[in-house]
Amino acid sequence: MRIILLGPPGAGKGTQAKSLAEELALAHVSTGDILRQNVKDATSLGKEAKDFMDRGLLVPDELMAKMLQERFAQADVRKGFILDGYPRNLAQAKTLEDIFSIQGIDVDLVVYLDSSEEVIIQRLSGRLVCSKCGANFHKTNMPPKRDGICDKCGAALYQRSDDKVETIKRRLEVYKKETSDLIEYYQGKNKLHRLDADGQATIVLSQIVALAKQ
Ligand code: AMP
Repeated sequence: MRIILLGPPGAGKGTQAKSLAEELALAHVSTGDILRQNVKDATSLGKEAKDFMDRGLLVPDELMAKMLQERFAQADVRKGFILDGYPRNLAQAKTLEDIFSIQGIDVDLVVYLDSSEEVIIQRLSGRLVCSKCGANFHKTNMPPKRDGICDKCGAALYQRSDDKVETIKRRLEVYKKETSDLIEYYQGKNKLHRLDADGQATIVLSQIVALAKQ
């Protein structure tokens, strides 16, 4: 099963992708996570990407294409995958098709997680992320048991540098300008399913699983 999750920042793509990867035994490919790891490790990609990320802008397509080619050359994606955070514009969708056609595969399902701006800002401005295992928490919606500590692995939680209200607004503008075209694109290919993602994560998860099992 090969799934793409689309939707604005804060729609819950990362949370859903992590749960789906576990439930359906698929690889989780998150371009945001790969980039953040590169920034943390101060690789040349990380150094090039950091400024774009901090400003809420898209990292240039050429850098992303190279990164994605490398990720899709790894063995774990052969069992199937959930792609979260890519593509983010039409050029990236074409790059993805090229990578898939070389590998002789195609995407099975594209899920568009739709969320309102009010919910997105509330979610992202309160989001806390584990510095070690990447688990997500929220200051009020899903607080950790111990302040600032991950329930799953005990490491410190942090707030992403791009989860400040101003940067969230910029990311939403970028989404509207660049990424929303993809909804029509995948609709035209009869692959797109839209879900309301304002509600509880567990309900959204069961809806995606049902689509994947259809
Ligand atoms: P995310 O974790 O998906 O919200 O991504 C965080 C940031 O990483 C984005 O705001 C972009 O700066 C960058 N990023 C992630 N995926 C992409 C992509 N497909 N194309 C360009 N930039 C990306």
